[in-house]
Amino acid sequence: MREIYLKACGKINLSLDVTGVRQDGYHDLSTVMHSISLYDRIHIVWEPNEEGGMQIRICTNRPYLPVDERNLAWRAAQLMNERYGSQAGIEGGVLKISMKKSIPVAAGLAGGSADGAAVLIGLNRIWKLGLNTRQLCRLGEELGSDVPFCILTQNTRYRAALATGRGEHLQPLRKMMKKHIVLAKPPFGVSTKEVFRHIDAYEIPMHPDHRALIHGLAAGDDEEVYRNMINVLELYTLEHYEAVKKLKDTVRSRTSAEKVLMSGSGPTVFGVYSSMKEAKKACSILRDLRYEAYWASTDGR
Ligand code: ATP
Repeated sequence: MREIYLKACGKINLSLDVTGVRQDGYHDLSTVMHSISLYDRIHIVWEPNEEGGMQIRICTNRPYLPVDERNLAWRAAQLMNERYGSQAGIEGGVLKISMKKSIPVAAGLAGGSADGAAVLIGLNRIWKLGLNTRQLCRLGEELGSDVPFCILTQNTRYRAALATGRGEHLQPLRKMMKKHIVLAKPPFGVSTKEVFRHIDAYEIPMHPDHRALIHGLAAGDDEEVYRNMINVLELYTLEHYEAVKKLKDTVRSRTSAEKVLMSGSGPTVFGVYSSMKEAKKACSILRDLRYEAYWASTDGR
């Protein structure tokens, strides 16, 4: 038996721009993603046996999540099994993956992608495959656009990257943001597909300047960073989900956030704070208002 424990960190989008529609129907994006200290705990146990065939068993503390091929962790295990399961010493066995989830589901925080990334990284280690980060990212692309970013940040010291294409082309950023954040969400999910289906109908009034944002991060210039923290998907989500708009206004008016933005396609909204004390205070204000709220940071695990 071999086992491994991993932390699967979520992400926020410091900016998100839609730059075009592709022939395959996906949108071209340009987004600065940042890993956060809110994570799911993944425990993988591999019990080899002589019977041949690989059984994948998933369990999770979120009873409403599927534990079959609809779960990204399951799909990641199946992908590794398809590619490497016939190698000597790996031929058969039982893979038990347990996921203690803390990242809210369907929240724009890449919870499923983080779990899938952790399974790819974990099996690479358990089966001693020797795949490097680039090779793992290429596998991750087959699972979802955010998976390569999650692999990059779980498997290296990088915490942030500029992602382009569907989100899979990554330019790792040397400087990360050193801030405290509070994530808050209303009691529903927003479908990423729905948002992208409608976003082309919008005239985008202001695009983030990624060069300036990255420069701001490198120079530690908060104002330059905040000026360019723009998520164009807010155009759709804030208009169609009044509760998200209200939440964003609440974080802005009731807490000392230096910047407030929606992550991904929503509905999670995050506030940025320089001090842990202010972030914790903001978190408790939002919880008192009955929001699901989490305190996290951008520079730790
Ligand atoms: P992203 O930010 O990458 O768009 P998200 O944070 O908005 O993702 P997820 O939490 O990954 O969304 O959930 C999106 C859907 O994926 C949910 O409907 C859920 O049922 C499904 N899903 C599959 N596997 C998982 C998993 N391991 N954890 C959470 N959701 C999962």
